[in-house]
Amino acid sequence: MESGKIDSWQDTYCPYCGVGCGLRVGIRDGKVAKVRGNPGHPSSLGDLCLKPIHLPGALDTPDRIREPLMRMNGAGSDAHSAKGSLRKVTWDKATTYIASNLKRIVQRHGPDAVAFYGSGQFTTEDYYVANKLLKGFIGTNNFDANSRLCMASAVAGYVSALGSDGPPPAYEDIDHADCFLLIGANMADCHPVLFNRIKRRKKRDPDNVKVIVVDPRETRTAAIADLFLPIRPGSDVVLLNGMMKILVSQGKIDRAFIAEHTNGFDELMEATRQVSTAAAAKVCGISEGDLIQAARRFGEARGALSFWSMGLNQSVNGVAKNQAVINLHLATGQIGKEGSGPFSLTGQPNAMGGREAGGLSHLLPGYRTVANADHRQQVERVWGLPEDSISDKPGLAAVDMFEAAARGEVKAMWIMCTNPVVSMPNLDAVEKAMEKLELLVVTDAYHPTDTTRYAHVLLPAAQWSERDGVMTNSERRITYLPRMVDPVGQAKPDWRIIADVGAAMGFSHAFPYASSEDVFSEFTQLTRGRVCDYSGVSVRRLQAEGPLQWPIPDDDHPGTARLYAGLHGRQSLPPGDKMEGDRKVLPVETVSAGREGEAKVFATADGRATFHTPEFVAPAELPNRKFPLLLTTGRLRNQWHTMTRTGKSESLLKGAREPFLEIHPVDAVRRQIETGDVVEVRSRRGKVWATARVTESIREGACFMPFHWGRMAGRFSAANNLTVSAVDPISKEPELKACAVEVRLRPGYEGVRASKLYQRLAKAVRG
Ligand code: SF4
Repeated sequence: MESGKIDSWQDTYCPYCGVGCGLRVGIRDGKVAKVRGNPGHPSSLGDLCLKPIHLPGALDTPDRIREPLMRMNGAGSDAHSAKGSLRKVTWDKATTYIASNLKRIVQRHGPDAVAFYGSGQFTTEDYYVANKLLKGFIGTNNFDANSRLCMASAVAGYVSALGSDGPPPAYEDIDHADCFLLIGANMADCHPVLFNRIKRRKKRDPDNVKVIVVDPRETRTAAIADLFLPIRPGSDVVLLNGMMKILVSQGKIDRAFIAEHTNGFDELMEATRQVSTAAAAKVCGISEGDLIQAARRFGEARGALSFWSMGLNQSVNGVAKNQAVINLHLATGQIGKEGSGPFSLTGQPNAMGGREAGGLSHLLPGYRTVANADHRQQVERVWGLPEDSISDKPGLAAVDMFEAAARGEVKAMWIMCTNPVVSMPNLDAVEKAMEKLELLVVTDAYHPTDTTRYAHVLLPAAQWSERDGVMTNSERRITYLPRMVDPVGQAKPDWRIIADVGAAMGFSHAFPYASSEDVFSEFTQLTRGRVCDYSGVSVRRLQAEGPLQWPIPDDDHPGTARLYAGLHGRQSLPPGDKMEGDRKVLPVETVSAGREGEAKVFATADGRATFHTPEFVAPAELPNRKFPLLLTTGRLRNQWHTMTRTGKSESLLKGAREPFLEIHPVDAVRRQIETGDVVEVRSRRGKVWATARVTESIREGACFMPFHWGRMAGRFSAANNLTVSAVDPISKEPELKACAVEVRLRPGYEGVRASKLYQRLAKAVRG
């Protein structure tokens, strides 16, 4: 389509990954017709990847849900049935039905029998209103989101080390760094626009800019590596502790920074005394020379910038891995200054906004926690609730939530804007949970999906382009997304649907919002004085000035590129702080990362960051004779999550139309597997059929599958048939990156090439 035929262009934000690129959208005849990069968006500077370009074909499709649907018991019945067929109902009927059933279940079983599972694709307003209804008014903290699967370990890592969540660096630091540590992040495929920026930086100064890539798979990210470390899956803590030991022994640490701004270094040193770098390298499956080189490059950098995502976070050792990276930055003073810092990347477009809105089951808005009595009171005041209304008990995290449903403890679940019957680990267990629920409400844009198939009540959601709202990307930059076209059918924004149910439950006084702007402005009040201070932001300001980076404590504040930027060469504590014994106490409420260049401290009681002593914990499942390979899962460059939008584009499907398994040639030969064969991958929980890709890009002993396909593509197409429900004990993030499997040719298909065969096979399974 030619741009000349476009009626108007509007600026917005990409609804896919956490890079949060700015888009320019062409509207024609009231529909989204074209998507381009927006050169005016400071996070992406006009760049974009292929995925959003294909959005126009995925929006108004025949599988959109156009009106509320309920699975009725039979003609004239007012009760739902798991087996009944879905029938159209009015919004009024659906809303009243959900409200009365939630009330009934709360009355009979208590508020913790209700749970809500949301999404990093929510706007901040959606997160906020869901949080308010569940934690404030229904009285349960059982509100969690799929962001638990992506960055909960990073949240816990930042909070434990720096005193607060919030990635300290900005994307512009890429242009100043001379050492990149890319660990557990296939940025070329999963955060492509940021990867392009690193490539450009490297190209400008190839001799001085060094890139270290750590990954069991030699992904496209490794193509720019000066040093590639294909470590054993799960051994990251050993690698990072080994690097720390080398930094210390080679005198490449910043002793003045450590003395002035940190606690816990001596304890860490005591623990690293036990570390042998030769043994560490052996555990990681790399050479000691490479380990030494990695540490040296990091320690000699003027600006060292680390990026990580699911490769570190999705692990039973996820928090320790985060702490181990942050340790390297604290030890070298590589934080709060240009070109440096520990930078955890979010997977989804508004996972960051969700953190600030308190969208996990232990959080409250404004980086508060349910366990903190002062925090609960502050939120209760704004929500007009009596003291002690909010429970002090953290709610169920994602995996626990589905397990509690399978045990019959959670009776009602509302799933919004996410597809857990594809994305959660151990899908058999998730399906059991779905089947056991007394009431399952699902709000989505599309039907059928693997999850909507189980819904008793199915509500149509207005999606990207059809509703407005605010989202925040990985570099803390807040962007307003306008409504550009009309919603299909009777679809509504998620926050509106939740607020209407809240009102129908008898809480209309708490949900009086006429617009998403009303919701946003109530939320920003709860960030005043917090590290994630949005109080200088309004929808009008975002519309007028464009995207801004928090903290933004007042209307004139320009936003903050880099947190903790005043640490270098400045006093860490402002004068006149309260004393507790011989320790200065700085109330968290007054700690702000402030303007660039102002004195700043870490948001801990004494303003100092904390070195932790991360201990290596092996993956929950290790290979054995029966399951001798370690499976790791991940994303593909051209697909997004469970493919409900990207899977509709022929162009995006090119290159990977069906599930595949990457396997090392040595492991393949042992099993007489060739590229193109259909293989059966088995774990203790289930099996998958996939097309083999024999490649040296995966380590021997490991194998890889993308997680995008669900059971609708064939019962044995979902990688999460195999994965394990084990979680990090602190962050509760599941270990989606490691489970023990065996691979063999699919019985009956020995030696037969797969592609056509697979089509027949998949058809037979579906049929
Ligand atoms: S890099 Fe991420 S945010 Fe940017 S265009 Fe691609 S999917 Fe969208």
